[in-house]
Amino acid sequence: MLLQKERQQVREYCIKMFERGLTIGTSGNISVFNRNEELYAISPSDMDYYEVKDEDVVIMDINGNVVDGKQRPSSEFRTHQIFYQNREDVNSVIHNHAKAATAVSCLYKDVPPIHEMIIVNGGDEIITSPFTKSGGQELADVVFKTMGERNGILVGSHGMVTVGADVGEALFIAEEMEFVCDIYLKTAPIGGAKILTHEDVVYYK
Ligand SMILES: [Zn+2]
Repeated sequence: MLLQKERQQVREYCIKMFERGLTIGTSGNISVFNRNEELYAISPSDMDYYEVKDEDVVIMDINGNVVDGKQRPSSEFRTHQIFYQNREDVNSVIHNHAKAATAVSCLYKDVPPIHEMIIVNGGDEIITSPFTKSGGQELADVVFKTMGERNGILVGSHGMVTVGADVGEALFIAEEMEFVCDIYLKTAPIGGAKILTHEDVVYYK
């Protein structure tokens, strides 16, 4: 089967994402890029994560053509492939509607450095893209531009996108961003968290 390893990773990490409370229902999507083949495996659109089989994971080229797979690809495939087209350090993209991250994405406020794990997104703050209607090239362009050289951002009034050298890293960043957004929301009503300095958070890793 074409890109069997990547298909399996997409399927397994979608379940991990769901079980770790990072998304609900069928929302969210994961892709894994095979740089040698210039093809990526992406989760199918509108399928229960527990019902997805390896053959349901869709294989696409980086120009958006379906190469293999029985299902329709995630409607956000353009937001995945723009990173494979333009960033050599990215081999996996995750998008989800994690609750705390999505709540913060609706505030359009940068999350300041309140915890050392914030640094995994690639900056001292967690930033949010401008609002863009989902499902098209415009969202892909806005997400890519907002991301810059970071590894994770909030998508305005929508959720989060993270990228990584592999799918494990992309999920790790998603979990930590959700954690920091949750702490931000929990502390906000009681005066807000202490803001740390760049030096306080920069030495992580
Ligand atoms: Zn979404």
